[in-house]
Amino acid sequence: MPTVETTAGPVDAEQLGRTLCHEHLLTASEAVRAQFPHLHDAEREFARAVEQVTNAMGHGVRTIVDPACMDLARDARFAARVAQATGVQLVLCTGIYGQHYTFLPQHFQTRDEDYLADVFVHDIETGIQGTAIKAAFLKTAADEPGITPDVEKVHRAAARASLRTGRPIMAHSRPASRTGLEQVRIFTEEGVAPDRIMIAHTGDTDDLDHIEELLALGVFIGMDRYGTAIFLPDEARNAVVAELCRRGYADRMVLSQDACATIDWFPEEMIAELAPDWHFTHIFQTIIPQLRELGVSDADIDTMLDVTPRRWLAGS
Ligand SMILES: [Zn+2]
Repeated sequence: MPTVETTAGPVDAEQLGRTLCHEHLLTASEAVRAQFPHLHDAEREFARAVEQVTNAMGHGVRTIVDPACMDLARDARFAARVAQATGVQLVLCTGIYGQHYTFLPQHFQTRDEDYLADVFVHDIETGIQGTAIKAAFLKTAADEPGITPDVEKVHRAAARASLRTGRPIMAHSRPASRTGLEQVRIFTEEGVAPDRIMIAHTGDTDDLDHIEELLALGVFIGMDRYGTAIFLPDEARNAVVAELCRRGYADRMVLSQDACATIDWFPEEMIAELAPDWHFTHIFQTIIPQLRELGVSDADIDTMLDVTPRRWLAGS
């Protein structure tokens, strides 16, 4: 029986249950947080994370995958506290987001891909940030700047760490410039099997030709930003998901929101105004009923929430 690492240790893949594959307990500007700690309230952040997770569990969610990595203020101890307080199974990762999706810190600029792969393998085999909590997968990101030399280094290092450990990869992508194709190319050049790769944020486009081009490569895709109309309104996201379910791809898609219980990137009132539906239960309250009306079967919804995350995480 394959297992998946959580903040409470490995669980049988069969025990993952209903899974939100891309939500954040906390997203913060890491350097600001370290240097000016008076700007955040840790207990308020904890209360908000517990509230969001509890709400999701009220809809049957048993597992939340949090792809916080370097540059997003990943905090394994914080995550473990939230898991203990709520009973949710939290799945963490290792990896690097990249400053402005472009640059690595000087430390990694002067060292090669294999050095970086060793860093990632440490988090997978030894534990994250001095804890015994092991990373279950690897995270990379490419966005508007494209595949810069530093972004390529992170992708190659993640691929090498994946090959050494068998752990899957989640890649933040930007469908508007089709970065997913380049990201898959780098991973597979390094030898990673396509069915170990999830191209996150594929749901940010309604370009079905591009999406099918990705699917033809054999990867999983994240329809994982419901509630963020600044990238694509939910109505357009739903039309794409419904059509891809009709074409038989439910077992390659996950549904999620990329919501952050706390995010310090914007003043709070700006988030409330720009993205009022951006929270951990939007897909259960609003999206799933809409998908049903568009003809998506309960079986396909169950597949996207219960089966596809497990197939990507555990390979089973
Ligand atoms: Zn995210």
